[in-house]
Amino acid sequence: MTDRDISEIKELLSSPQKIVITTHSFPDGDAMGSSLALYNYLIQGEHEVTVIVPTRYPQFLRWMPGDDKVLVHNMERDKAEQLMSDATLIFCNDINSASRVGDVEKALVSASAVKILIDHHPNPDIDVNYMMSLTEASSTAELIYEFIDRLGDTDKINVAVAESIYAGILTDTGSFSYGSTSERAHQVAGEMIGRGADNLKIQGHIYQDNSLDRIQLLGYSLSEKLTLYPEYRAGYISLSKEELTKYNFRPGDTEGLVNYVTTIKGINFATLIMERNGFIKFSFRSTGNFSVNEFARDNFGGGGHEAAAGGEFSGSLQEAIDKYVALLPSYKDKLLS
Ligand code: 5GP
Ligand code: MN
Repeated sequence: MTDRDISEIKELLSSPQKIVITTHSFPDGDAMGSSLALYNYLIQGEHEVTVIVPTRYPQFLRWMPGDDKVLVHNMERDKAEQLMSDATLIFCNDINSASRVGDVEKALVSASAVKILIDHHPNPDIDVNYMMSLTEASSTAELIYEFIDRLGDTDKINVAVAESIYAGILTDTGSFSYGSTSERAHQVAGEMIGRGADNLKIQGHIYQDNSLDRIQLLGYSLSEKLTLYPEYRAGYISLSKEELTKYNFRPGDTEGLVNYVTTIKGINFATLIMERNGFIKFSFRSTGNFSVNEFARDNFGGGGHEAAAGGEFSGSLQEAIDKYVALLPSYKDKLLS
């Protein structure tokens, strides 16, 4: 994003706008943190601002300031689509392609608003007017800080903005443990604490508020549903709809589950294969040199980052597992590199 872009955006924001902020389906901590941080910043101006998410998101994220104002597209479709078509300015957070917004895609693509992308995924492929796309950023939330900073508005980072940014950085860095955890990520997180984000309270909301079902699903997945292929340094967990129902599955309950697989000595490539409504969802994680972004893109129409990616498959759970297992031999060199 050039200085000229910033001054044009500043000019735009100097008069009242109808603003929509949107993000990817099955929003995670960074999707919600970045979107609500931007929301809490923008509502300090004379704008009408709405966060529209394609689908519901986990309970452990539902404490963020402004959460009660978020519109879920698949629950209030007409209202959401009206807001998209009336918008004068649309922010797309934490996505690198319009398809990531699921059912919101059509309304997003056809909207006449000025569009701004703020994201940290590789290879952005989306039609927008302005783009802040930096793969070196730990999270989109970190980039919301950079955006506000470049607009010269850090004095508008109140507790609501700070808590949301902190939550996005915390979750997208796996509590400051992934490779993306840069000096800058710590600096911005530290500054958010300085601006009133209560880090222990936020950690409590996100990591200490699990249902018993969620923890028992984790135990079941690890003890009964884990298959390892040490010869490929790989392993996967699969979960059927019936199994998820047995543990009263709620959005977010499997968040972080796949990471346990990479913590096993000798395993660098972890996969979660989960039955969703009408399709199979893959989550991939890598702790070595193996690019799960490429693996997801080339085999499961997905993508993400080098170390964390996802994709989809249409067919049965067993067919999805078979496809994944059959792919391993052809990736042996890359998996062992
Ligand atoms: P998760 O496994 O937590 O759902 O997603 C990990 C990463 O992969 C996230 O950065 C997310 O943006 C990306 N990702 C997950 N699913 C998909 C998908 O179906 N398509 C694409 N392009 N990216 C995905
Ligand atoms: Mn992110």
